[in-house]
Amino acid sequence: MTGQPPSSDSRAAPALALVTGASRGIGRAIALELAAQGLHVAVNYKSNQEAAQQTLAQIEERGGRGELCPFDVTDEAAVNTALDALFARHPRIAVLVNNAGIVADNLFAMMSSQDWRRVTDTSLGGFFNVTKPVIKKMIPHKQGSVVTISSVSGLIGNRGQANYAAAKAGLMGATRALASEVARIGIRVNAVAPGVIQTDMTKDLPLDVLKKIIPMGRCGLPEEVARVVRFLCSDDASYVTGQIISVNGGMV
Ligand code: NDP
Repeated sequence: MTGQPPSSDSRAAPALALVTGASRGIGRAIALELAAQGLHVAVNYKSNQEAAQQTLAQIEERGGRGELCPFDVTDEAAVNTALDALFARHPRIAVLVNNAGIVADNLFAMMSSQDWRRVTDTSLGGFFNVTKPVIKKMIPHKQGSVVTISSVSGLIGNRGQANYAAAKAGLMGATRALASEVARIGIRVNAVAPGVIQTDMTKDLPLDVLKKIIPMGRCGLPEEVARVVRFLCSDDASYVTGQIISVNGGMV
């Protein structure tokens, strides 16, 4: 996004925003928010096509534009194939939101190597697999914004989440390093670290108990994360890069 939403110029095709894991939860809210800014949103998901269709339908009901873009962020070859096809249709990518993520919680002593790898491959491996081809596409245009969804867990290290905390903390380091590499080119790279947000990921957690440790006394909504992502993608954040923005009701 460049100040005014790209689609405000009716002669130009709208710029592209790719949101990974946009079929549900926080990713869906981000997709809706970015589409409302005039971006053409590629709605990525892994397997839940029905939910992804609902995201796209909601975008279109609100007058926005987008398309489905399924791939597994852990599969580098599949990512490259899907992105080659996407970039052939939409040569200018303005925004990438790395949102896809999973949890597989367990105490570290009990954690399987498979659960360690599944979680780190999705968040951290997904960041590499998706961001690399996108950044290479942004560099010639000397413009773009990358926002990655980290977590409060990466800041404080939640009990039972060594895999997830490692992945999410790794994303913060990758964000800062990449931001410093591409800042002079005009590409901004930031991360958002949500606290406890009401989505499928948290639906089995004891939210009433968790609320007691959140200073604001409530869980967050996906839309509250999405509005911060929208800000970071906009020209209102033109001098913001390499930052980790917490959206957590005051937890840390
Ligand atoms: P959900 O479980 O509600 O949704 C996860 C999304 O990620 C789905 O769209 C899912 O697709 C997609 N996804 C999962 N694995 C892959 C993969 N390998 N390739 C492509 N897409 C994939 O999660 P949330 O909305 O709660 O979380 C979104 C992000 O926010 C995650 O990174 C999470 O770690 C982070 N976060 C969430 C918090 C919370 O409290 N909810 C707090 C802090 C951070 P499909 O529908 O096809 O399965």
